[in-house]
Amino acid sequence: MSSLKHLFENNLAWANEIKEQNPEFFSMLSKQQGPKYLWIGCSDSRVPANQIVNLPPGEIFVHRNIANLVVHTDLNCLSVIQYSVEILRVKHIIVCGHYGCGGIKAALESQEHGLVDNWLRHVKDVDRFNADKFNGLTHDEKLNLLCELNVIEQVTNVCNSTIVQNAWENGANLSVHGWVYSIENGILKDLDVTVSSVND
Ligand code: ZN
Repeated sequence: MSSLKHLFENNLAWANEIKEQNPEFFSMLSKQQGPKYLWIGCSDSRVPANQIVNLPPGEIFVHRNIANLVVHTDLNCLSVIQYSVEILRVKHIIVCGHYGCGGIKAALESQEHGLVDNWLRHVKDVDRFNADKFNGLTHDEKLNLLCELNVIEQVTNVCNSTIVQNAWENGANLSVHGWVYSIENGILKDLDVTVSSVND
């Protein structure tokens, strides 16, 4: 017997609640998905994509990893971007970081965390690229700013991918956004770095 019985009970209650509101919900959704948004966010359990923007299943295509990184050689992330842009034809790609990100914090620490430190080297790179922006800041201020700068760097990486470059060359209506979320108050902030064409 599963020791995770409570999760199955939760699932049944959730599915029944949705079916009460809309009996056709799951049968409609099972036929196709047509999300307009791709969300690239952190794996942090406190930053669930659909709930933050209050959208039901079927509305957001999601990729999450530690510290919401878009690495040029990450076939997993690139495949998600390619499928969502070329097949699902999403209109918006949202890179969403969050303040208080454990991945960002860990990247600035000297202690070892294991394999993940190799992944977090990419955050250390963002720190190094922006070294001049941290002068005079407290540690917490630096962490918050690095969370934002990391999002901006990943937005650039999305824009520079061959997938997005080709989409824009082919006239796709596609925008890439950088957001940051506060786990302290549940509020999203737009970093106003939206890019909508090769020339932006
Ligand atoms: Zn995080």
